Amino acid sequence: MKIGCPKEIKPQEFRVGMTPNAAHEAVRHGHEVLIETGAGVGSGFDDRAYVAAGAKILDTAAEIFAAADMVVKVKEPQPGERKMLRAGQVLFTYLHLAPDPDQTHDLLASGATCIAYETVTDRTGGLPLLAPMSEVAGKLAPQVGAWSLQKANGGRGVLLGGVPGVGPGRVVVIGGGVVGTHAARVSAGMGADVTVLDRSLPRMRYLDDVFNRDFKTMYASAGNIAELITEADLVIGAVLIPGAAAPKLISREQLSTMKPGAALVDVAIDQGGCFETSKATTHQDPIYEVDGIVHYCVANMPGAVARTSTIALGNATMPFMLALADRGWRQACAEDPHLLAGLNVHAGKLTYAAVGAALGIDV
Ligand code: NAD
Repeated sequence: MKIGCPKEIKPQEFRVGMTPNAAHEAVRHGHEVLIETGAGVGSGFDDRAYVAAGAKILDTAAEIFAAADMVVKVKEPQPGERKMLRAGQVLFTYLHLAPDPDQTHDLLASGATCIAYETVTDRTGGLPLLAPMSEVAGKLAPQVGAWSLQKANGGRGVLLGGVPGVGPGRVVVIGGGVVGTHAARVSAGMGADVTVLDRSLPRMRYLDDVFNRDFKTMYASAGNIAELITEADLVIGAVLIPGAAAPKLISREQLSTMKPGAALVDVAIDQGGCFETSKATTHQDPIYEVDGIVHYCVANMPGAVARTSTIALGNATMPFMLALADRGWRQACAEDPHLLAGLNVHAGKLTYAAVGAALGIDV
């Protein structure tokens, strides 16, 4: 099969759909890999690395889309890319169709078979192609939170780890899933005093069993949140209710109960944010202040560390990409219900119930 990987064109997107390692694996499996020139540069992979892996470099996205049996990307196809898709072609990438009727209609019109990273499942009920980005965002959250606490950024001027003779900063993580666990581990590793709040008792049992010396757990009642934020230097929002907007867990009124210059990092901003005062920001202008509290609300945090994110995403997508290439999408999906769960659009039909329900389209 011919596998094509164009350069990402969404603004501020530096990741790439295939690493040289993924290209090498596909070539070893007998496939032809076509990479658009410069596609990997934002992630630190130049054309030579792909050529060394056995891939062929093409000059334009148009050539990639025209030649490829399967197109592998990171972000949802942009309008110009959608026009280049065709019937019988496979598209494997993040799609996020539910809030995006224009893209959905274009993909239906293309006749292509579109498999979305974000709806591929695993045996534990998890989302294996979303998890790596949550791991990245979770580990970044204390890093950007520590930066937000610096005086020059409007913060309290507190060093999270403290120093001999000065106690550590206090970090409160709301939501103890993938993001929250990684955020708590890094915060604890910095030497901070860390508490994780969740509403799932099994999850808190797990966290307590595995990390009981590193951080405390508490039930995420409104009362516990209200009490803990008065003492916090940094609060990290990491909740998720699948398929729903994030619940607002800290109100504007409550900001006045926090220490002046404390910081909020709202990782859940891509689901609307879990603090009332959150609004999405960008890597160019990541923070703002409300009532003396510094807010960091970047919706695509993994983009800040594109190289790590690309490699982490590539590790997760590679087995699925190889299955699709080796066996064809039809057989690969027939053999693996978790990959089948990724199928959103095929030959002009929507095949994913939740997207159909969100957009009022028959499935
Ligand atoms: P997850 O499902 O692994 O974890 C979510 C946790 O939140 C679960 O443990 C759940 O029990 C808990 N929870 C739900 N409601 C709660 C409540 N009211 N109070 C306390 N805990 C509650 O999800 P995840 O992968 O950790 O993702 C967390 C959020 O981060 C999601 O909104 C995700 O989209 C977002 N995210 C954002 C970025 C970014 O760049 N900003 C990157 C990756 C993920």
